[in-house]
Formats: sequence, structure tokens, C-alpha cells
Amino acid sequence: MKFCLKILTIPLLIVTSTHTFATSSTQPKQPLLQSPAIVQIEKIKKISSGFWLIPDPRINYIPNIGIIEGNNAILVIDTGMGKVNGQRVFQAAQKIAKGRTIYVTSTHFHPEHAFGAAEFKDAIYIQNKKQLNESKEKSEKYLKLFRTFGSNEANLLKDTTIRYADKSYSVKFNLDLGHRIVTFMEMPAHTKGDQIILDQQSNTVFMGDLYEKDFYPIMPDPDTKASLWINVLSQVIAMKPKMVVPGHGSLSTVKHLKQLQDHMIYVKKQISEQIKFGLNQNQITEKISPQIKKRYANWDNSFFLDFEIANFYAELTKTPIKLPSLN
Ligand SMILES: [Zn+2]
Repeated sequence: MKFCLKILTIPLLIVTSTHTFATSSTQPKQPLLQSPAIVQIEKIKKISSGFWLIPDPRINYIPNIGIIEGNNAILVIDTGMGKVNGQRVFQAAQKIAKGRTIYVTSTHFHPEHAFGAAEFKDAIYIQNKKQLNESKEKSEKYLKLFRTFGSNEANLLKDTTIRYADKSYSVKFNLDLGHRIVTFMEMPAHTKGDQIILDQQSNTVFMGDLYEKDFYPIMPDPDTKASLWINVLSQVIAMKPKMVVPGHGSLSTVKHLKQLQDHMIYVKKQISEQIKFGLNQNQITEKISPQIKKRYANWDNSFFLDFEIANFYAELTKTPIKLPSLN
């Protein structure tokens, strides 16, 4: 998992960099996937009335995928990566829809959350405006680049096309599925265009990559905004959801969101104190990392901590972000 997620971050760095694009030094040297990232639709489970989950089996590039049923329509949250996955998830959705309207949405534009959307024929694709703009800016680049990462990625993304929203909104939007309202809220932080989706009936919130269970926050993208992320978590915690669906990892609760928020506040405070002592980013990383890693010893992907420090450091010193090397 660690290896896979580490590699997964590379395209973020390359694509969002204003300098080089896919240089040989940043190309991964080995295949990225140890297992084919095929969404396991046969593992779909009913979490509560009209709420289905196709769980993340802890294989890289497979997110948690939700399906919410109303009387007149269903909503699919996140699509899986590439044509085959999009088709598989659409099939699962059709089985549940039984002729009702199908809506589909992406928590953000990243490949495993959005690059199956084109396969949802006759479905209505909803994106918030910020996500739509970010997708127009970056998705084609991501598609091309991911195909170069190995045969698994190339296969997954074969014949894959990018789809843009049929319907978009700004800030907040209520979708009536028929005696069931789901609320979409624009909440950028992990990317420029994240949205969270709240199913009011089950009081469940879908976080996308704004929250992963027992992971360090994924912040290798220079467009990530660390303090904004803390605010986003405050907003979601204040909603008091009963259940929290992470982008990756097992089902969670508000308690887990608070743990992530406490972690980010703690890291920010440590960095702020060290800046006052005159330490630079590298010195701070060296000084505070061991104690943080000890404190969060059971969290996965600790290599993301360096990115988190870089992000907070840039923000607190009002300097351009200097992301660490992944090599
Ligand atoms: Zn993401």
C-alpha cells in the first residue's frame, strides 16, 4: 500500500508542476500496480436502506463507491478508474436503478474517482463548478500521463475518455432522488475542486480524498490548501454525520474526522513554533518528523508527512511551496 500510494502521488507532482512534465527522473522505474485495479462490484453491500457501498478492497486506484437510492432516481458517488471500471460500476448501478434515472458524480477529478464517468450512458453527470474547471485544466494531462506509468495503468485507461458535467452548481446543491435528498457541497482543499456529498436519510457523508481512514492526509499537490482542509473538517464535523465514507479505507465516524483534524492542527502548531526559532523547512522536517511519526505510529503512508510539512511551511511563511522529492 505504501509503495503504491507513493507512486500514485508522482503524477500529481508532475502534472501540477509548472516546470517539467514527465521527466525521466520522475518516471517510476517499475510497474505501479501489484493487483489489477478492477472494482469488485460483486462485493457490493447494503449499508442501510437504499444505501449501497462497493468497498475499497485496499488495492491502489480503487476508491469506495457509493450508491444512494430514491423513489425516482439513484446517485452513484465516484466511478472507478477507466473504461472497464466505469462500465462495471454502471452495470451495478443499472441493476439497482431498475429503470430509474441514474445520476453520477465524482468527489474530485482524480482518475479513480472520475475517469469512469464516460461509461455511464444516459446518466446525468454532476460536478461542482470548481471541479469542472479543474478537470478541464488537468484531466486530459492526467489521462495521458497515467497511461505511461505501466501496462496495468495503460490497460485500465485504454479507450478511456474524459467526461465533463451535464449539470454543475456552485457552493451547494440539493438533489431530490424522490423522497430522498442528497446535498452536494463544494469544499476544495485536497484539490481545487473537491465536493462532499451528504445523504440526509442515512446521515452519511462521502469525503472523497479529504479523508482516508488511518492515513496521513494526501498533500503532494501544490494546489492543496492545508489550513483550508482543517476548516473543511470543522464544517463536516459540525454537520454531525452518523457515518463517514472515506475516499479509501473502511467506514468511519466523526471521531475519526476529529482525529485527522487534531493531527493537522498539531502538525501546524509544531511547524509554527519552529519557524519562530528560525528553522527552515528541511530543518523543521528533520526535527519534528520523528515525534509525529511516533505519535501516529498506526497511521499508514507516513511519507506524506513531508508534504504536509511543506504545505504548512509555505502557508505560514507566505513563500512558494517547495515539495520534497519522492526519489
Ligand atoms: Zn485524490
